[in-house]
Amino acid sequence: MREAVTPESVTPEQPVIYASGLVLPVSGPAIRDGAVLVRDGRISSIGTISDLERDNPNAEVRRFPHQTIVPGAVNVHAHLGFRRGDGPEGGPFSNWLAALIERLPEKEAWTAEAARNSAREAVEAGTTFMAESSPYGECLPQLAESGMVGTVYAEFFPHDIGDGTPEGAVDFIFEEARKLREGLPERVDCAVSVHSTYTVDPESSRLAARRSREMGWRLAVHISESPEEVEFVRNGTGGLTAIFGSNEWGGTGLSPVRYAENIELLSPGTIAAHLATEVSEEDIGVLARTGTAAAHCPRSNDFLDCGVSPVPRMIERGVRVGIGTDGLWSSPSLNVFEEALFAVDLHGFDGATGLELATIGGARALGVGDETGSLEAGKWADLAVVDVAPSGSEPERQILEAAADGGVVATVAGGRLIYNRDEG
Ligand SMILES: [Zn+2]
Repeated sequence: MREAVTPESVTPEQPVIYASGLVLPVSGPAIRDGAVLVRDGRISSIGTISDLERDNPNAEVRRFPHQTIVPGAVNVHAHLGFRRGDGPEGGPFSNWLAALIERLPEKEAWTAEAARNSAREAVEAGTTFMAESSPYGECLPQLAESGMVGTVYAEFFPHDIGDGTPEGAVDFIFEEARKLREGLPERVDCAVSVHSTYTVDPESSRLAARRSREMGWRLAVHISESPEEVEFVRNGTGGLTAIFGSNEWGGTGLSPVRYAENIELLSPGTIAAHLATEVSEEDIGVLARTGTAAAHCPRSNDFLDCGVSPVPRMIERGVRVGIGTDGLWSSPSLNVFEEALFAVDLHGFDGATGLELATIGGARALGVGDETGSLEAGKWADLAVVDVAPSGSEPERQILEAAADGGVVATVAGGRLIYNRDEG
């Protein structure tokens, strides 16, 4: 049957079949000699190569016979504007942060280049969707240029902007974000981040969180990342007061999670990064009750002496969890699959759980689980091709190991081939 010709369908893109020795949709069983049919950026169907080729004789076929197709990685917490090799030493966290702040003036000269390289690295590691946080959204151009999709969360520091009031600071950052959202590629957008409990005052935090909800925007925050943060929020003392001496709102007697709830930061649209230090059962209950999602960044937590996030308990209690790499000054790579493999070994997960966290888990955490994160008809064609033909009982672990070790050979976002190793 011929389809009606509408203006939009006069020059339809030629459908493309991505075919490989194994397709692992994550949402369903693996398909040997599998294939994904892509039409107008979305997955039109998924099945065996022979079925899809027979039913779509006009489709272009891109073959990866000895590889595996998986959903593209979703990075739920990254910073693009850092570069490898010359970051501050690791923990304690407050020493690292003080060294980072000292270098901010020097960093300005190379942030854009670092962001371009970081984004490229992420693409070459199979990342298709990224939640990036950077001061005033400074890394949005590089994320948009990379071919990945996702959101850049513009961090703001109220004492530096506006008219000196929380209202002025929040007006300023939302106006900046509104301007940044103009002219972006499809599926790339900008929202606001309340950087942390110790850098943004409670009133500015509250207003920014409320405004985000009014706008229907998600909100990124760092919460309970370090022992120093716990000490600041609870007692108003410790290493962070040496850096941010003027911040008078610490000493609440609360855990950072409870404090964040009090200032209205926690909601289903919030992605809370790290949650590494002293996150109690009660805190996990607060996260679950408020619907807050968690970004698990285990390698950064390890590097900065921040402890181990109680991710198994969070998952058991229904908290949505995804994997974040953080940035190159606190983490060795922007490779989500490598980060997930670290999490697998840290928590004793099986490979399937690791691959889920790196893909559909992250998509659900960011509220885009209906659009990406697994290979299903109707979702965007966001996928990675990994140079491995797994055998044995745990193919997912073999895939994670290969992808962690530079094994991604192609990355497709919204049906566009944004990386193909063979083509350089
Ligand atoms: Zn971070």
